[in-house]
Amino acid sequence: MKILITGGAGFIGSAVVRRAIADGHEVVNLDVLTYSANLENVAGVANDPRYAFEQADICDQARVREIFAKHRPDAVMHLAAESHVDRSLEGPIDFVRTNIMGTAVLLEAARDYWMALPEPQKSAFRFHHVSTDEVFGALGEDGEFTEETPYDPTSPYAASKAGADHLVRAWGRTFGLPVVLTNCSNNYGPFQFPEKLIPTVITRALEGKSIPVYGDGRQVRDWLHVDDHAEALLLVIGKGALGETYCIGGDSSRRNIEVVRMICAELDKVAPANTPHAEKITFVTDRPAHDFRYAIDASKLERELGWSPRVALPEGLEQTVRWYVENRDWIEGIRERGFHSERLGLVKAS
Ligand code: NAD
Repeated sequence: MKILITGGAGFIGSAVVRRAIADGHEVVNLDVLTYSANLENVAGVANDPRYAFEQADICDQARVREIFAKHRPDAVMHLAAESHVDRSLEGPIDFVRTNIMGTAVLLEAARDYWMALPEPQKSAFRFHHVSTDEVFGALGEDGEFTEETPYDPTSPYAASKAGADHLVRAWGRTFGLPVVLTNCSNNYGPFQFPEKLIPTVITRALEGKSIPVYGDGRQVRDWLHVDDHAEALLLVIGKGALGETYCIGGDSSRRNIEVVRMICAELDKVAPANTPHAEKITFVTDRPAHDFRYAIDASKLERELGWSPRVALPEGLEQTVRWYVENRDWIEGIRERGFHSERLGLVKAS
């Protein structure tokens, strides 16, 4: 397949780009390169003849249409987004613009392109929206999200992704655009921008700084290794049933404080300076309206497409910690651009 991947210079998008090229697909990476993008994430495939890069904003109708016409993709995998909840508390309009308007622009360009396709390309075309489990809101101590869970987003980030999901389904139902959707739990792994929990903890600990844990650290997240997510996404875009949604999860639920302690224990083994790292754990003011728990029931994806996660959390964290320890230049590059993993999003909830 020739896949137009949006957001392919970001954390998950770049994992999909690398995996798609390794699997023999052609890739067009459409990315505007915001603060969280990094072309180093795709440096390993940049010279592959099956890879092309287009620096473009998904909100720019003319550019997006031009890219469809130039590359003539067989499918679109849409990951470009503003992705950090804390940022969405400080600047929600950017999230509405990119995640909602950008998705609408992309859908319209995809629709016009798809309508003019000859068969059999027209029937085979797919528009895959990569979304989050945060659209479902928060769980209490029990239960899991499924494809039938009603939407109840909390943060502007989650609401903007929910809006994008609704648009994608509407384009499927109203215009017949062949869409598929996935809602995934929290990802971790190499190349994740150090504003999300796991890379923030690792990079700040390596720098001997305090390790912030929001509130009492009792919130629960279901962690999925990014390579497992990339594999699931390529499976869904290739074999997912038309119009269907698939929940993707890691079956690895942990309280945030447990994850932070696991990382500290790994760091003690491979980065002897500043041990024991857990001494630097500092409980800080909680995120406003912090969702208590997310958990995913991914049994539909397992039953219908045979996918289940391969990387267990302890092993994945060990590999991720080692990657950050061995790739300090990657972190340095980000620090030189002025990002120091400082706290964002401390706004009053009422
Ligand atoms: P990221 O912030 O690392 O990457 C986002 C990418 O999108 C960046 O390369 C950025 O330059 C690009 N982008 C942003 N605005 C753009 C625009 N207007 N035009 C073109 N490109 C633009 O995010 P991520 O963690 O890799 O997340 C990727 C996708 O997966 C998002 O849609 C996110 O909602 C979804 N998702 C993320 C997680 C997670 O745990 N990180 C979980 C489930 C779903």
